[in-house]
Amino acid sequence: MSDLMKKSVLLLDSAFSPLTFCIARRALKMLMKGVARAEEVSSQKVYTGKIWDDKTVDFILADIYLPKVIRLMKYRYIPTRLQVVTRKNIFTRDFNKCGYCGKRFSPKNLTLDHVIPKAQGGKSTWVNLVTACGPCNKFKADRTPEQAGMVLRRAKRDDHPYQQTHFAKHVN
Ligand SMILES: [Zn+2]
Repeated sequence: MSDLMKKSVLLLDSAFSPLTFCIARRALKMLMKGVARAEEVSSQKVYTGKIWDDKTVDFILADIYLPKVIRLMKYRYIPTRLQVVTRKNIFTRDFNKCGYCGKRFSPKNLTLDHVIPKAQGGKSTWVNLVTACGPCNKFKADRTPEQAGMVLRRAKRDDHPYQQTHFAKHVN
């Protein structure tokens, strides 16, 4: 197995909650079976092959990129749910996008924001932490989004760049 196939991929459930990490080989198998969809891919092309497409409800030929984040298409109960709260995992979950202005940044320009601020009893949990850019985080300060007059966005499948890049070529 090549080193590429051993890279770790974040697996989300159908509602975008993280379940666990798996190796790229397993992630690619899940994509090809149509049980999962790639939500975030690297620029590393793995091969060109058939992959399940929801829109055409059939397998299509597409360039397959090494996935970084995949999401299960159906809800599946997995008892050992892992929600490893690290900066990196929160940034990955939020696709490196600020939860307030919605812009994408490189991780070094991102911060972690407590949606309900620590000063108001907010905890450092998966649900209460969101990716924020420096200026948004500074402006929000020790306020809830409502108190600061800000709208908390959550990453949506439809506005994700994967949709444009992944099926851009070889669509029959
Ligand atoms: Zn921002």
